[in-house]
Amino acid sequence: MLALNQVAVTYPSGIKALKPTTFTIEQGQFVVLLGRSGAGKSTLLRTLNGLVVPTEGRITAEGLGPLSDPATLRRHRRTTGMIFQQHQLIGRLPALANVMTGRLGYHSALRSLLPLPGIDQMIALRCLERVGLLDKALARVDQLSGGQQQRVGIARALAQQPRLMLADEPVASLDPATAASILTQLREISANDGITVVVSLHQLDLARRFADRVIGMRAGQVVADVAARDLTDAAADAVYREDAMNAAPVTQRMQKVA
Ligand code: ADP
Ligand code: MG
Repeated sequence: MLALNQVAVTYPSGIKALKPTTFTIEQGQFVVLLGRSGAGKSTLLRTLNGLVVPTEGRITAEGLGPLSDPATLRRHRRTTGMIFQQHQLIGRLPALANVMTGRLGYHSALRSLLPLPGIDQMIALRCLERVGLLDKALARVDQLSGGQQQRVGIARALAQQPRLMLADEPVASLDPATAASILTQLREISANDGITVVVSLHQLDLARRFADRVIGMRAGQVVADVAARDLTDAAADAVYREDAMNAAPVTQRMQKVA
């Protein structure tokens, strides 16, 4: 449903955050982007909904066309839900109001100034029910636990009735049990609704447990692209190995000890 052709990102600072990358993602696939901090996961993920514009190459959304076309990008974004590490919810507003913002893409800017129609509220309530938080619909988001807040974030993405969900380290600030339950929920949603999910993680064990496919990144490059069951220790090593560049400080540390 998404095809990347030689997509690369060089930031204005000169950092090559993503080297030319080519792959396709099938509809309904649950893909984990795995890699250390700085490997380029967020950059790659953000190119998939145009939050970062590739400096080279092209991304094509199936049935829509190349994302470099502004009208195509708008249509693609409308059905692409985004889930963030710090969930980016409005704390003083109730869960329901936050989930309703997922509906805004379906209305004109002018129309959005007025209360949304009841149908949008019904959709939002159904999404909250889906993540097990119907009873918290009217609770202020800043009164909820971290795990519950992330569920509201998932409900908001679902309210967009997406065909693609992008999640950038959605469990990085959660304890292991809560992290596993959030990923379980994302997986179920993906499987039941046929939604493509691309989620970045830095934990190998979670990638192995939840992904259909693992795309391993190191220093802006895809160094592994395998079915989760084929993520061998050697493949994991290619993802997590220290770079030659990072080896220098080790020598310095040793010299200091001596
Ligand atoms: P990850 O999500 O795997 O931690 P990122 O995609 O955030 O990796 O970062 C990849 C590289 O690009 C890093 O070297 C980071 O410092 C750099 N980088 C990320 N965002 C920007 C930006 N907006 N401007 C300049 N450099 C950036
Ligand atoms: Mg990141």
